[in-house]
Amino acid sequence: LKIIVVGSAQDGGFPQYDCNCLNCSLCRKGLLKPLYRSSIAVIDDDNHVIFLDASPDMRLQMASIDVCREKLNRSMNNRVSPIDAIVVTHAHWGHIGGLAELGAGIPYKVPVYCSSLVSKMISKSGIYGHLVEAGYLKPQIFESRKEIPIYSWRGEPTMLKLKVLKVKHREDFTDTFGLKIYSSSFSVAYIPDIAFFNIEIEEFISDVDVLFFEGTFYYNNELEIVSGIHKTSYDLGHIPIVDSLNFLSKVEIPQKYYIHFNHTNPVLRKSSEEFKSILRFKLKAAYDGLTIDV
Ligand SMILES: [Zn+2]
Ligand SMILES: [Zn+2]
Ligand SMILES: [Zn+2]
Repeated sequence: LKIIVVGSAQDGGFPQYDCNCLNCSLCRKGLLKPLYRSSIAVIDDDNHVIFLDASPDMRLQMASIDVCREKLNRSMNNRVSPIDAIVVTHAHWGHIGGLAELGAGIPYKVPVYCSSLVSKMISKSGIYGHLVEAGYLKPQIFESRKEIPIYSWRGEPTMLKLKVLKVKHREDFTDTFGLKIYSSSFSVAYIPDIAFFNIEIEEFISDVDVLFFEGTFYYNNELEIVSGIHKTSYDLGHIPIVDSLNFLSKVEIPQKYYIHFNHTNPVLRKSSEEFKSILRFKLKAAYDGLTIDV
C-alpha cells in the first residue's frame, strides 16, 4: 500500500491568484514551492489508484504519480484511466473541480463515492450532470459509519474499503465528511475541512495509522492579520491549528499530518515559529509529493 500526498493547499491553491501576502510573494519569487489543492492518492498492492478528493489540479496530480504513468505506458491503444475511483469529502470547488477533467477522456464510468446530497448536486449541475449522463462519472452514495468496498471503474474490487463520518464544516450548500480508507493491514484518515473536534471524531480516527487533518489556518484571525479581511477561521468552517494542536497531540496515532493549508498560513514557511510549534506537538506538515510506503 502506498499513500501519496498529491496536493496540500487549500481550495485556492498556492500561491492564490489574487494575493501578494508574504507567502504568496515568496512563492512567486521561487523561494517557496507552489502547491496543488488538497488531495491524497491511495494505491493498493494491485496498483489501483484511489484519489481522495478531485481537486482542480487533478490532471497534473495524476501525471505526478509513477503508477499512473506506468499504466498509460502499458495501455493498449494509448488510452486508459490512470485512476480507478474517487472519494469526495464535500462539494466545495477545491474538492470536486477535477471531476470535470474526466470529460476530456473516454467515458470510463469512474466511481465517485460521495454523499447523497453531493451526488444530487453533481447529477443536476450543468457541467457535471452531463458527465454523469454520458457515463464519464458514476456517483456511488456513501453513508456515515457504513463500510463500503471500493471498486475500480473496471468493475473489479480493490483491496480498499471506505468508512465516512459526517463532520461540521461550513454550513452552506454542501454537507462534509471525514474519510477513512483501509486495507486488511493499514488505514488512513483524511479530514481536510472541519470546524470542530468532538468525541465522535476522536473515536472515528482512533484506530488509524496515518491521519491527515484540517490545517487551513494557524490562527483564528489570520485573514485579518495578513489580508485585512474580517472573516475568522471559524467563520469559514475551519478549526485553526492553534486550537487543534493540543487535542491532536494526545490522540495516539503513529503519524499525524496537517494538510489543506491556506496561502496565509505561516506553517508554509519552515523557518517560522508556527512550523516549529507543530513539530513540538509531534505533528507534521504534509507537503506535495510526501509518500508513505506501507
Ligand atoms: Zn477545502
Ligand atoms: Zn497569499
Ligand atoms: Zn470546504
